[in-house]
Amino acid sequence: MAKRDYYEVLGVSKDATKDDIKKAYRKLAIKYHPDKNPGDATAEASFKEAAEAYAVLNDESKRTQYDQFGHAGMQGAGGGGYSGFGGGGMSMEDIFSQFGDIFGGHFGGFGDIFGGGGRRGGQQNRGSDLKIQLKLTLEEIASGASKKLKVRRWESCESCSGSGAERGSELRTCPTCQGAGEIRQVQRSILGQFVNVRPCTSCGGSGRIPGVKCKACDGEGRIKGTANINVNIPPGVTSGNYITMRGEGNAPQQGVHKGDLIVLIEEAEHEIFIRDGDDILLEVEISIPQAVLGDQVEIPTLSGKVNMKIPSGIQSGKMLRLRNKGIPRLNSHYIGDQIIKIQVKTPEKLSKQERELFEQLAQLHGHGSKGSGLFRKIKSVL
Ligand SMILES: [Zn+2]
Ligand SMILES: [Zn+2]
Repeated sequence: MAKRDYYEVLGVSKDATKDDIKKAYRKLAIKYHPDKNPGDATAEASFKEAAEAYAVLNDESKRTQYDQFGHAGMQGAGGGGYSGFGGGGMSMEDIFSQFGDIFGGHFGGFGDIFGGGGRRGGQQNRGSDLKIQLKLTLEEIASGASKKLKVRRWESCESCSGSGAERGSELRTCPTCQGAGEIRQVQRSILGQFVNVRPCTSCGGSGRIPGVKCKACDGEGRIKGTANINVNIPPGVTSGNYITMRGEGNAPQQGVHKGDLIVLIEEAEHEIFIRDGDDILLEVEISIPQAVLGDQVEIPTLSGKVNMKIPSGIQSGKMLRLRNKGIPRLNSHYIGDQIIKIQVKTPEKLSKQERELFEQLAQLHGHGSKGSGLFRKIKSVL
């Protein structure tokens, strides 16, 4: 029998998006799944055919090659990577290994939908991801930090190992979704009719409910708990960066695969420093004598105080640089600088002695009480 066109197999057009392809395949995989059609060879063949079509069309380079050369392009020696398709088609293992991709996310896994559990090594009903914000100071960002997080989450029920069923009690097909794990609802809108698919809340998407509910968790398979989780943050992170901790999220309803914990980094505002990428900015006020004569001053940095020389005759607004006192760049050996903006402060109040000294200076410059040189120049222009 001639091989059918992959697009035809999935019932999508040649310009279908990845999403269209995924949806089409998902529908067929559910329809022809061996657990739903036990002993039906035709269903199994359709199941494999759909999986093969999806494996090619979901992969950009394979799809391009298929679009150009058709099935011939898929079987050639130069194909590299899909030798499995040439002869007997994909193995069941290959097919189930794709399911994480198709049935991941909010929907949960495939195995549980059909009561298959993890027996084929496929994905299971998966818990939801948790997101928490972690505020870090610039000092912590510069050095990297190790933090202990207290996380409230769903934990797998130990009494029933997450199944939700009392010991010795069987799991039954969920009557709400008839084991599908999802509820389909046809909705009408001005744009037409569309099908809304959401996970079944009675069984949490697993398709099964316990015959006798576990007393410890009331059949949920999970209980609310608090976990202490250590997280290591590398130096150089910035607001919006996140760290995904696999399997540290919520336990699912009746299942064992926990979701992920996503730690979202937030940078705390600093009292004196401003971050500019890898650099740290600091404004430093110095007195007029310091600006005129120069000085050695103590400057705070993210890693403690350092001594810095202020050259004589420095102007207000001048930038000085402390090399490598900024923030390390993430995943790099580069370290930013600390940049110091000098502000020369004009005194607003003077002691008697200071006033006398400034007046002496003024006389020296010819700016006496009879009017300044500058003022005279402007007058002459007028
Ligand atoms: Zn259900
Ligand atoms: Zn339980």
